[in-house]
Formats: sequence, structure tokens, C-alpha cells
Amino acid sequence: MTSKTYQIRVTGLVQGVGFRPFIWRIASRLDIKGSVENRNDGVLILCNLSENTLKSFIETIRNEAPPASNITDIAFSETDHIEFSDFQIVKSTSVSESVTDISPDIAVCADCLEDMKTQPNRINYPFINCTNCGPRFTIIMDLPYDREKTTMREFKMCPECHSEYTDISDRRFHAQPVACSVCGPEYLLNTDGKQTEDQQEILLQLSRLLQEGKIVAVKGLGGFFMACDALNEAAVAKLRTLKNREAKPFAVMVADIETLRQFAFVNDAEKQSLTSLKRPIVLLKQEEPFAPSVNVGFHTIGAMLPYMPLHYLLFEMSALKAIVLTSGNISEEPIIIDNAEAIHTLGNISDAVLTYNRDIHNRTDDSVVTVMNNTERIFRRSRGYAPVPVKTLRNVEGILATGAELVNCFCIGKGHQAILSQHIGDLKNMETYEFYTETIEKFKKLFRFEPRLVVADMHPDYLSVRYAQSIDKPLIQVQHHHAHIASCMAEHGIHEPVIGVAMDGTGLGDDGNIWGSEFFVCDMQGYERRSHFEYLPLPGGDKVTSEPWRTAVSMLYSNYGQALTELELPFLKALNHQNLQMIYAAIEQNINTPLSSGAGRVFDAVSAMINLCPLSRFHAEAPMRLEGIIDHSVTQSYDFIPGGSISFHPMITQIVNDLLNRKPLPLISARFHNTIVEAIVHTVSSIHRETSIRTVALSGGTFQNKYLTEHTETRLRKLGFKVYSHHSIPANDGGIALGQLTIGAEKMK
Ligand code: ZN
Ligand code: ZN
Ligand code: FE
Repeated sequence: MTSKTYQIRVTGLVQGVGFRPFIWRIASRLDIKGSVENRNDGVLILCNLSENTLKSFIETIRNEAPPASNITDIAFSETDHIEFSDFQIVKSTSVSESVTDISPDIAVCADCLEDMKTQPNRINYPFINCTNCGPRFTIIMDLPYDREKTTMREFKMCPECHSEYTDISDRRFHAQPVACSVCGPEYLLNTDGKQTEDQQEILLQLSRLLQEGKIVAVKGLGGFFMACDALNEAAVAKLRTLKNREAKPFAVMVADIETLRQFAFVNDAEKQSLTSLKRPIVLLKQEEPFAPSVNVGFHTIGAMLPYMPLHYLLFEMSALKAIVLTSGNISEEPIIIDNAEAIHTLGNISDAVLTYNRDIHNRTDDSVVTVMNNTERIFRRSRGYAPVPVKTLRNVEGILATGAELVNCFCIGKGHQAILSQHIGDLKNMETYEFYTETIEKFKKLFRFEPRLVVADMHPDYLSVRYAQSIDKPLIQVQHHHAHIASCMAEHGIHEPVIGVAMDGTGLGDDGNIWGSEFFVCDMQGYERRSHFEYLPLPGGDKVTSEPWRTAVSMLYSNYGQALTELELPFLKALNHQNLQMIYAAIEQNINTPLSSGAGRVFDAVSAMINLCPLSRFHAEAPMRLEGIIDHSVTQSYDFIPGGSISFHPMITQIVNDLLNRKPLPLISARFHNTIVEAIVHTVSSIHRETSIRTVALSGGTFQNKYLTEHTETRLRKLGFKVYSHHSIPANDGGIALGQLTIGAEKMK
């Protein structure tokens, strides 16, 4: 058999996941001679083999790839002959300005948990890791991924770690964060000015403090978290007060899946998300409550399983079943990553601060997902998910999309990949805005990115728009809901025209009104607005988001005028005469009363009207509470008037009648949700009749509503539509930058 020299390029998530030793092992097994090396743009293999062996080599690479890797492409070609005498891993070289994928952080693997019990230098050592697990994105400062370019560069490997690191047959071969108790990072417990250094003593103290109901700030992979016993009501209530967080549910970390099943229902798809290497927070149906203050009246619970060695050690050493683990920050600021800042700021609101001496370079929060129709859907995309890219049809090199405002993520284009940043947060917060601009700079360096074109929203007040305007590059501004739909199309690689349904809170429309229930016929180039929910005046403008009762009054006013005062509705009783007169005046004289077609506002209004949530204490509380009470046995809906401007006047009258007849609220909520599903299905069907388009893209924050999404998808699919909704990119504004970027690429073409 004649042997030729081939070069094989593997691209995708192939660095920092044990890929080169994996190639070495299969090359040895198949007796292939050659070399493998990391390049900026992927992994390059050179080898001597026959055409037949080439096929089986590539097949084996695909079939046996390491668990944390994700191959997007394997390309090969014959090259000038080189005679190899063995198979070697050669040192990384920077060869081009394109970059390969950077691995997200990976939960500690089972082999390492086992080593933590048996390896002398790693007994209970909480920074254990290997090529299959451990920190990645959070510690990477530059590419290629080598120890000197991570925050591990401060730690000099001991001889034992070094021998593992250089032993090709070892699981820690070239594991950049490799460490042991002799040479690696260490925890430090800070209590009332005292510091504990002994690692075993720290673990004992930590579990004792938590079991005593104390609150401890703990440094995680991507930032600090506040922890307390999730079954200790006094501790959880105290944490709420200290964090100044009145009602937004906390997430819990539970010891293991069996324990979690005592508290929540977990189906197969949910179990898969919970136990995946990404270890997100998964929203589950609660069966037994944790301490009541954990989720204050919600029947869903955000739960995750341990992902750092410390988490396992903590549950092993204590009788704790679950701990609250919430972002270490003051209200809505970004989570703290710096040790000194954590001791200074979180020290005041906790009984102890647990730090460690490895720096976090890229801040990540816990990611949040839920399962709808048996598929994982992401709400907050950060640890474990970022910065995995989305493949794009067009070359998007040099495009920066600056995102939205409230739930910001930005997106950069590299070749045929869109790289969405980790969850940034609400830009109106000054610290978050700093995090935003810093992260853009970090991405520029890390991904060798220089913007040539900037894409932003149309809203003149968004800080992401002002930022875009401040860059001296061509700027394209994109309508908010067009970007939502484009994001969904880009996630699924759709380019043909679709019926785009954006159910959302707010976004500036072309007519100057607030949009947010849009039925588009659109592609990446542009859109035609076919229909939307009827405009509703929002008395008080921005105030309606925290005071849904205003929207409820406005909605009733559109049906009853000032006679609404006569209605015997409980929520009206809480409002005084002056309040109502003020709203009437605002609507009648059009004072600070913008018009909105936002679907979120309709949910707000109904939630307030039935007196469930007249005042909202956190973003989307009113719709979340409304969804939370649905009676799932109810199939009826209310009436609406279809058309270019969909009217819910009949529904409002029917809801009022149901309230006056003292119908149960879960029934009203179910009928309401069913009405929205009907309105969507009806409108999509009539657009289909006019256009013959069968592909539907659903996007916008309102589709975080599980009932709405599941029923809309199921109904549309039954009617023969091809329905796409968001899976790995958020449906909320956190996904919008991807849509902006792809629209930008299309317009630039
Ligand atoms: Zn491991
Ligand atoms: Zn060591
Ligand atoms: Fe939006």
C-alpha cells in the first residue's frame, strides 16, 4: 500500500478539551505516523497513511471525540510528502487571525471526583481538573489556549503535575489548568477580619457556617455567589433582606438528582440538562417547597447540580440537602469577580467570604434553561454555554452587533461564525455598562476582532445604540423585532422568507410607537408588518413595567370608558379615586401615554386586572405569576377580533364577567393564555393563505412563557407549519445581537 502525506484540519470546539492527546491515542492505535498541533483556527494533523486508513482515521475521530468537544468540520487534502517516524504533538503556533472555538467552562468530571479520593496530592483538593473538565473561558486571556495565556500562569507546576502534563498517555496531558495541593490554587476563608488558610479546616467551617444558618459569599467559576441553607427559612429571608431582593426567586443547588427529586419533578430531558457538562440552572415544577422565601409563591424552582469540586465536598461533608446560590452582587450590578472587592462589598452582607487565589478573567453568571416540548431552551446564556459560536451562512467577519438594553448580550462576527457574548445584564446600571465595554475590548483581543461595521437597535436612548454611535465605523440600525426574528432564523440557519411572530415586551417601531406583538413576513433583508395586537395607551410610560395596574386600567378604559369605576373589581378597590382620575386625564389628554402593541403589556394588564400582580417587584413578575396559576385542564378561550390590528375587546368584557361571577383565577388565566395562542394561530394561518409561506419563526421574551410556547408550537405543527423557536440562543433580548449581526451581514452584501 502506498502511503501519502495528508493534512487534516479539524475545526469546532477542539481546543482545551483533550483533543490532541485523543488524536495521539487513536493514531497510536491505528499505527499512524505524523503530528498534531493546535492552530488558531483549529487542530492540524499531518500524517502518512493510505486512502483507506484515512477514511477510518477520520471516522474514528468523529465517533470517539472527547465528551466536551464539538467538531464542526473535518477537511483533508494531500500535501507535499513528509516522512514521519512516530506520532507527535507539536507546540502551538499562531498562524492566522482566525480563531478556533474557545471552550466554555466544564463541570468537574467523574474521573476527577474519583481521583479526589485516591490521589495523594489531590485528596479533597478542590481545584482538581483534567483535559475533560475544569475552568476554561473564565480563565482564558488569549489564544492559543496555553497555560501562559490563562490566569493559571501564576502557578508553577510541581514535578508530579508536570510529569502528568507532559505524559501523552495521561488524562492530564496538556490540561492547562492542571494543579494539585502542592502547586495549585487554594481557598481562603475570611471571617470578621480573620483568615483561615488550612484547606480542610475551611471546608469544615464552611459547612458548619451554612448549617448554622449563616450566609457565606463563595467564589465560583465565573464570579462570586451568595450561599445559605435552602431549607432554613430564617437564613433565606435574611439573604433576601441583605440583597435587597424582595420577590425574585432564588436558584438552589441540590446535592444530587435523587435529593432534587424529593422537591421537584424531573423528566428525562430536564435530567439531561441538569447533568450535562454545562450544569445550568434548570427551571422545574416544584413538588415539595424548599424554604418559602426561596421562590416566594412560585410553583417552579430553578435548580442546579454541583459543578465545582468544592460543591461536591461541601455536600459530602455536611448534612445540607440544598443551598441557595445567588449572584454575588448588590441588586442588579454584575457579579463580583475580584477578591478584594468581594471582601469589601459582600463582606458587609455575609458572615464569611470564601475566596481563592486564581483570578477570574471572564465573568460568567450561572446559565438558566428550561425544557419546553422536550427541548432545552436557554433564558440566560453564560457559564458552560458562552462563547460557543453560531455558524452563519454569510461571512460576518468584522461585524459588531451591540444588542439591546435590559438583557444585553453583544455579538461579534468571525468568518462564518457569530460569537455571542456571555449574559451582560441591564446597561442602565453603570457597573454593568462598564462590564459591557470591557467585555467588548476583551473579545477584540481574544478573538482578534476589529469592527468594520456596527449594527445596533433603533432606540435612541439605548446605551448600546449610543455606544455604537460612538465608534467611528459605518452603522446600521435594525428594528428590534426584526432582529428578534432574524436571531431565530440565524440560530436555525433559515434564509427563506418566514412568517415571523415576535411576542415581546418593548421595542421601538417604525411608526414611533412601542411594538411587541408583531406578525411579519420577513427575511434577513427586510420585513412587512402584516398584523399586531391593537395599540394600547400606556399611562405613565415606563412606569407601567413596575405598576401593571396602570395598564389594566387603560385596557378597561378602552372598553368601558370612565364607567369602569362602577365595576366591582377587587383590584380597583385598592386604587383611590385620585389615581383613577389621573389615569383618565393622562389617556384623554395624551400626557406621557405612549402607544404600545407589546404582548408583555397584555399579560401585565390581565395579571393586574385579576388582582394577582397589580404591582411588579421584578422584571416580568406579572406574566410569570399569571402563567404560574394556569389550570391545565381548561381548553376554552375568550373571543378576539382578528385583522391587521387584533382587538381583545371581547376578551376584556368576558374576563370582567368571569371576575364578577367569581370564576376561579386559574380558569381565567388558562382561558386568557388560550386566547393568545388562538390569536397567533389564526393570524399565522391567514398570512399563510395570502403568501403560501409555511415556515414560522417565533421569538421575543414573551415566548419564555412555557405554556404559550408549547401550545403555539403544537397547534401550528398540527396545521402543517414548520415551526422554529429558540433553543440555544435566548428568545429574550439576550439573543437579539445575533439577529442584528446577520441582518447587518445581509445589508452589507
Ligand atoms: Zn476531570
Ligand atoms: Zn502539582
Ligand atoms: Fe425584545
